[in-house]
Amino acid sequence: MSVSIYIPTPYRRHTNGVSRVEVEAGTVRQVLDRLVAQHPALAQQVFDDKGEVLQYLGIFVNDEEVHSLGGLDIELKPGDELALIPAIAGGSEDIQFTEEQIIRYSRHIILKEVGGEGQKKLLKSKVLIIGAGGLGCPAAVYLAAAGVGTIGIVDFDRVDLSNLQRQILHGMSDIGRPKAVSAKESIAEINPDVNVVLHETALSRENALDIIKDYDVVVNGCDNFPTRYLVSDACVLSGKPLVDGSILRFEGQATVFMPGKGCYRCLFPAPPPPGTVPSCSEAGVLGVLPGIVGCIQANEAIKVILGVGETLSGRLLFFDALNMEFRKLKLRRDPNCPACGDNPAITELIDYHGFCGVPNQAHVS
Ligand SMILES: [Zn+2]
Repeated sequence: MSVSIYIPTPYRRHTNGVSRVEVEAGTVRQVLDRLVAQHPALAQQVFDDKGEVLQYLGIFVNDEEVHSLGGLDIELKPGDELALIPAIAGGSEDIQFTEEQIIRYSRHIILKEVGGEGQKKLLKSKVLIIGAGGLGCPAAVYLAAAGVGTIGIVDFDRVDLSNLQRQILHGMSDIGRPKAVSAKESIAEINPDVNVVLHETALSRENALDIIKDYDVVVNGCDNFPTRYLVSDACVLSGKPLVDGSILRFEGQATVFMPGKGCYRCLFPAPPPPGTVPSCSEAGVLGVLPGIVGCIQANEAIKVILGVGETLSGRLLFFDALNMEFRKLKLRRDPNCPACGDNPAITELIDYHGFCGVPNQAHVS
């Protein structure tokens, strides 16, 4: 007699994603034995080491708990349906590492500051990267390798030969293709655990809050002032941590803005007049520099997710690649800041191109 078993979401990794399994059986106990025979990885989710059904696993026959019906040896009828319902706390499903994941993340798991719990936090975390360019590429590579479970990428640009000097997610065969698509393919090759979500659009006052709301941390790899102020204001309004980075020629900057602890406007209340600060395409950038700054951003994002160490919150890291100097400058939240101050004037996103006095054309270096 064929019996159908409902497999809850936390266990589907052991059934190749299948939510219903059919077995031939006459009693509940036979159903469970046949189920684990078909899917041996389920055995430790169902039975303890004495072969008894786990205390924290509920077994239901046609929506009735099996013990209320007489136990595991009751006779089943054709058409009966079983469901395995594990106890869960707080609505968040526990991640069970696969053997491959234990090997993949072993160097993290043995660190006491990360451990199995930290690795699970990374796997559950969602990081949004603004731009798959010079900063976004190295940040994405290390966040993906670290097992950040969801990486969102905002980019509408296409790969150009001049990008390959530093944008390490892209290769020769990607020239002319969308950067977001190229980034997704490269990440899949590094770590198939990562779900890459593409936002192939320019971040704007119309879409920024909607895109950012689904993420835990934002990593900013943009190269223009309107987007920099837009991302900062959007993170303040959404209460999201922002890991900021910027580069030009041989100089890099990085910092972390935690909610309530200051923002980009506290540091730079107004952008420089248009034309006074050149872009990387005008002034150049040493290719390895965004690699270093982007890796620092990945490092800070991981610390924010894990809640370990001291992040760059309240400090601006200033890096001179030519003289090999790192400086850390203190940052303070400005109580008069129009975005994150005590009486903020900015309560919704504004016209950032107008604010910065530049035409509306955003590109990521
Ligand atoms: Zn501020």
